[in-house]
Amino acid sequence: MKGTVYKSTGSWYTVKSQNGTFYECRLKGKFRIEGIKSTNPVAVGDRVLFEVETKGDETIGIIYEIEERENYIIRKSVNLSKQTHIIAANIDIAFLLVTLNNPPTFTTFIDRFLITAEAYHVKAVLLFNKIDTYTEEEVLEIKYLAHLYRSIGYECIGISAKTGKNIDKVKTLMQHKVSMFSGHSGVGKSTLINTIEPNLNLKTSEISEQHLQGQHTTTFAEMYDLSFEGQIIDTPGIKGFGIVEMEKEELADYFPEFFALKVHCKFHNCLHLEEPKCAVKEALEKDELAWSRYKSYLQILEGEDETYRKDIYNK
Ligand code: GDP
Ligand code: ZN
Repeated sequence: MKGTVYKSTGSWYTVKSQNGTFYECRLKGKFRIEGIKSTNPVAVGDRVLFEVETKGDETIGIIYEIEERENYIIRKSVNLSKQTHIIAANIDIAFLLVTLNNPPTFTTFIDRFLITAEAYHVKAVLLFNKIDTYTEEEVLEIKYLAHLYRSIGYECIGISAKTGKNIDKVKTLMQHKVSMFSGHSGVGKSTLINTIEPNLNLKTSEISEQHLQGQHTTTFAEMYDLSFEGQIIDTPGIKGFGIVEMEKEELADYFPEFFALKVHCKFHNCLHLEEPKCAVKEALEKDELAWSRYKSYLQILEGEDETYRKDIYNK
């Protein structure tokens, strides 16, 4: 049988078969997967092949194969330093909720999320939430940001999880898709999910991030069906995507607007720093690219881990 993994506790996997029945499954004895080394060979969102065994009145499934993943997101395992943990696989859309204040979301945080999504090959959509609360000036700032990110190719929607404004647009995107929601604590993830699907009771807000940081627990993602076709993957306690490890030369490739200019740089391995005849720097000087994006690029390149810099918006 074919199915999709909805939940995993490490040794047990809840799999929904194609005809809609849920099975509790274990992995086949000699289960091996090529490629990445992870603490969990099978993750939420994985499409698997399994066979059903019945012993007495107990029916369990045995997963014997997983289908090739379209994408997956990982996290370094907390207790086993060199191992990774696959949080979820086969994600169609990663929504990032952004608010200007309460809490503030800075462009460096948005950019880190976006480059990680690029590196993971996950489509990212920006949702500017709480638009019911903004002053005229703040609305202009949102418009500026939406324009900036649209020009790079990212879909942006201004929404209010509270009033329901533009929630229909979000739902349309989610139909027949597997979605994930990220963003700082307090941006409105639980409120939004509740507005989208009032009967879902996700754990999103139950675990505070601070609480998690002190603990050596691994949080497990879980998938939920939507009433309007589609699924949500809930990742309790995970606000972002983490950061993918990559080579310095690779980083600019995940800024689509930098990547597009790369062929015009004099040096094929240009890092867009002080090199002569750099097309990215030239475009920046002409204000054809956003300085905030370049600033994020430099910060990540230099390995600075400061996402809360107040001066980000004003260069
Ligand atoms: P989470 O931590 O991302 O899950 O955020 P919550 O959903 O718990 O929301 C944090 C606070 O923001 C709550 O007090 C919500 O009522 C409020 N909130 C969420 N969305 C909106 C919105 O669109 N407009 C307004 N005015 N408040 C919102
Ligand atoms: Zn360059």
